[in-house]
Amino acid sequence: MKKKHLIITVAFLITSFLAIPTIHILKTKWSETDIEPKNIKGYVDDESHLNCTKIDSLFLAPNNRKELIKQLREILKYAKKNNLKVSIAGAQHSMGGHTITENGVIINMLPYKEMELDTINDILTIGSGALWKDAIAFLDKYNKSIAIMQAFNSFSIGGSLSVNGHGWQKNLPPVSSSVISFTLMNADGEIITCSRKQNVELFKSVLGGYGLFGIILDVNLKIVDNTALEYKYVKMNTNNYLEYYEKFVSNNPDAELVFGRLRVSRKKFLEEATLNFFEKRNLKPNSLENTDNSNVEFKRIIFRGSVDSEYGKRLRWDLETSANKVSINNIYSRNEILNDDVSLIENKDTGSTDILHEYFIPERNFYQFIEDIKPILIDSDIDLLNITIRRVETDSDSYMNYAREPVYGFVLLFNQKKTEEQENKMIKLTNNLVDITISNEGTYYLPYRLHVDKNKMRKVYPQADDFFKLKLKYDSLELFSNKFYEYYKKE
Ligand SMILES: Cc1cc2nc3c(=O)[nH]c(=O)nc-3n(C[C@H](O)[C@H](O)[C@H](O)COP(=O)(O)OP(=O)(O)OC[C@H]3O[C@@H](n4cnc5c(N)ncnc54)[C@H](O)[C@@H]3O)c2cc1C
Repeated sequence: MKKKHLIITVAFLITSFLAIPTIHILKTKWSETDIEPKNIKGYVDDESHLNCTKIDSLFLAPNNRKELIKQLREILKYAKKNNLKVSIAGAQHSMGGHTITENGVIINMLPYKEMELDTINDILTIGSGALWKDAIAFLDKYNKSIAIMQAFNSFSIGGSLSVNGHGWQKNLPPVSSSVISFTLMNADGEIITCSRKQNVELFKSVLGGYGLFGIILDVNLKIVDNTALEYKYVKMNTNNYLEYYEKFVSNNPDAELVFGRLRVSRKKFLEEATLNFFEKRNLKPNSLENTDNSNVEFKRIIFRGSVDSEYGKRLRWDLETSANKVSINNIYSRNEILNDDVSLIENKDTGSTDILHEYFIPERNFYQFIEDIKPILIDSDIDLLNITIRRVETDSDSYMNYAREPVYGFVLLFNQKKTEEQENKMIKLTNNLVDITISNEGTYYLPYRLHVDKNKMRKVYPQADDFFKLKLKYDSLELFSNKFYEYYKKE
């Protein structure tokens, strides 16, 4: 072949190789409507975008403690006088109406974000409406960081305590274990301090208590040093996941943050996995101000391009696994890594919504669980976009605990069309997955859709009825309520 022909052939191959993914990415971007979901006056919704509900009133908390207490007491009085229920909201990323009661009062705590740092004891005192991103920005100036939080920075402190969220910080239980104490306003407007020494029963009930015991005001959180972390990544056959986890994470004293991911394209469905971890380095961590966010939209489009597309799913897996190789050895600060916003995966299609599930499985049944969910997921019409895996250590703090022994959390993200047909399919899918979870001695996470059958919920949470009795002990008028409570309180 002549040199000229060779150049033309290579150029042709390169262009065609790049053309298909480029077209796919552009098509994904062009098909987005960019229409903001409508806020209908007098109605609220949560992150499911399937819970639009009429309410009596919405109250926004002020960002001043004295004023907050005064106004909250007035609101509670107003609700009692008018026989209304009160629901408490943070960022509303729960998905089952956990922040909403029909015709009720909603107290949105987001504006309340007063903060103070005790640098001697490493304790952050923080208003419950603050988001993790507010806390991270504040702590970064002192070279400190959050000990335990979810995978995104977009959740409120009050919401995170009330679902007892967990993250991907190595060898740690849920967020409750980093809580030293908090203050709570009860149904009578009294302020109660709760800790492992004071009002212990209330402390345990409020953590993972879904806003049913009162309003969390200020929280004392244990914090840690900000660190410089080096990114590492390994790709493997899923059957080797636990072996790799032990080698690269458990036996690695420098590993600080870690998550796994399973391949979700039909090709090699759940057969390949990656382990992504960050190792501590003895360097000065970057300041948050120097974070490079230039590729955030590209990452989002690649992710959205996997919706309803086998090609998009393969492309995402290939790009992420090859891009990961390129970024191996990059150094980030802990705060930079924890500071991802949920907009990184934002769905701009108003005809569908992204729904999360999470199942916590003990190590002894890790592989069996994956084998069991495979056929159920393949048979379902609901589009599975992502599975990440995190290890969660035993939670000895919350009453409604889901990590009763060390477990692996499988986080499944689906895209569901906003139709009755897809809703029914999702209900069926969820209950099938919960059955598998029960047979593998696991638990499921409560902040998502209220699709799990009431009996199954009690099988997984045998403490549920005692929890609801405790709720009545502390709030006999059932002033604090939400759709989760209304649905599950009676068998
Ligand atoms: C994309 C996405 C990713 C997620 N990733 C993770 C993850 O990595 N790990 C994880 O554990 N969870 C995760 N979740 C679940 C999420 O963490 C929780 O659902 C929770 O919603 C986060 O806080 P929020 O501010 O959104 O709480 P909200 O949804 O606003 O509230 C949750 C509950 O807390 C109560 N509440 C809120 N504020 C207060 C207060 N001040 N006092 C008393 N009660 C209050 C509410 O009444 C409600 O019952 C994820 C959710 C989404 C949508």
